Amino acid sequence: MARVLFLSVCFILLLNNATVFGGESTTSAILVDVGHSRSQSGAVSARGRTEFEFNRDMARAITAALRRNGIQNVILFNEEGANMSIAERVRRINALQPLLVISIHHNSLFPKYLKNWSWQGKPRRYCEKYRGASVYFSQENDFAGQSRAIAADLRLQMAKAGMNLHQHPELELRKKDIVAFPGQAGLYRYDSLGVLRGADCPAVLLECGMIVNRDEELLLRDKAYQRKLAAVVAKSVKNQLKLLETIGK
Ligand SMILES: [Zn+2]
Repeated sequence: MARVLFLSVCFILLLNNATVFGGESTTSAILVDVGHSRSQSGAVSARGRTEFEFNRDMARAITAALRRNGIQNVILFNEEGANMSIAERVRRINALQPLLVISIHHNSLFPKYLKNWSWQGKPRRYCEKYRGASVYFSQENDFAGQSRAIAADLRLQMAKAGMNLHQHPELELRKKDIVAFPGQAGLYRYDSLGVLRGADCPAVLLECGMIVNRDEELLLRDKAYQRKLAAVVAKSVKNQLKLLETIGK
């Protein structure tokens, strides 16, 4: 049964992959999901900018980098920031039948790790201790094996590029039921993340950095850094497309 399932998965991936580089089909695309929405905008940075704005900027940069790397069939999902439940987001994403979902987010921390300061006359919250990017997959995704492989490669490419990778405080791991992997800083299993669990294809969630860290916030707003991170993501996606093609043969 497992073998039949595996072969079926490979066949489906091969079929899907056939149109990835064609740029004509709306199916089999790499879907870049802009996390959150304008009205439910996620975390707030040390200087008061919403996570949604960071997510949209980075998702645009990643979309452009994928296209520069020859992957024309890319869907930038919810760039306009429409409000929707996680269930609705999953439904709409699955209706587009993507080959891979990359959900773009930026990270914050529990309030106990944050300190007070003032920026442009307004009270804000920040942290000094933690920073860095992290990548998540869900073991409850129907393509958990592929999702994990893609997340691990993305983490590896970021490490090779010298990017900071986030090590969660133990408290956050326990409270959120997140699993870390020794020797693979920045890679996490987080089964209950709705988009990852519900996607009908391999899916990973990228927390691009810690926007409550004052230094990292400035880095994440820098266009050159956005391009650098986007290039690493595009390289990793290209690696994984090659892998999927190999499996398909
Ligand atoms: Zn988020």
